[in-house]
Amino acid sequence: MKNPFYTAEHEAFREVVRRFVDREIAPFATAWDEAGEFPRALYGKAAEIGLLGLGFPEQFGGVPADQFMKIVASQELARAGSGGVSASLMSHTIGAPPIARAARPDIKARVLPEILSGRKISALAITEPSGGSDVARLRTKARRNGDHYVVSGEKTFITSGMRADYLTVAVRTGGDGASGVSLLLIPGDAAGLTRTKLDKMGWWASDTATLHFDDCRVPAENLIGEEGEGFKLIMQNFNSERMGMAASCTAFARVCLDEAIGYAKER
Ligand SMILES: Cc1cc2nc3c(=O)[nH]c(=O)nc-3n(C[C@H](O)[C@H](O)[C@H](O)COP(=O)(O)OP(=O)(O)OC[C@H]3O[C@@H](n4cnc5c(N)ncnc54)[C@H](O)[C@@H]3O)c2cc1C
Repeated sequence: MKNPFYTAEHEAFREVVRRFVDREIAPFATAWDEAGEFPRALYGKAAEIGLLGLGFPEQFGGVPADQFMKIVASQELARAGSGGVSASLMSHTIGAPPIARAARPDIKARVLPEILSGRKISALAITEPSGGSDVARLRTKARRNGDHYVVSGEKTFITSGMRADYLTVAVRTGGDGASGVSLLLIPGDAAGLTRTKLDKMGWWASDTATLHFDDCRVPAENLIGEEGEGFKLIMQNFNSERMGMAASCTAFARVCLDEAIGYAKER
């Protein structure tokens, strides 16, 4: 039965992503998993077919897209046979939305075109060694000192954490609870930031890291939104992230089922 939610435009985009996956990812996915990374050039190639810009404002290099377009992208990327490649390749889909929503206009204009064209990599850093589910209790501190924030603390399990050029980091600028949480845009080369690569049971091609902030000085203008607005921005992110994760999980399950049936029929 024809799916009532997908238009001809969705299906045309599906074909474009399918060809991209067949040509640019699937043949190399196993080797990239073994190597524990994939070439940075893939970001630029993904940007060329509009994959990185999906749903972001056109003025910064985005491509108009509804949720179904993003679901189509998740479904087709799942066919690559490497969850790790799509996780890192698309880490900007969680790192960059808060920038697009709430960063200062000059920062948006500088940073978003670089990310959406694939020249720079964006990551989101919320989870800490002490916990990830309870965002309102995060501990990494950012203390205002003149025209800078001074950040100290640790983030872990961060996708694209080793090679991200821009890290959207959840920090505590205020008191306890959700209202004390803010978001800061921290450049990957900021003094006082060091990173440790993490090994995983799967998703090997995805870069996953622990970030250590040791009195890391960040210009105050890099605050995303107002102080205390971080929790709300993170929850807005989670709405689309949950949809994307659900689409990817069902698509990965479909790939496994198709491959199992194909294999069984050969035996
Ligand atoms: C491959 C990978 C990539 C990731 N990428 C990123 C990333 O890019 N950025 C990022 O910020 N994070 C990332 N994460 C972290 C991920 O978001 C966290 O693992 C997740 O938020 C859960 O946090 P946790 O692992 O600390 O578990 P915990 O928060 O310690 O939770 C452990 C268990 O306790 C339960 N629990 C927690 N609190 C409560 C409560 N109050 N009441 C009842 N039950 C509770 C949870 O449901 C869970 O079952 C990544 C993780 C993985 C594995």
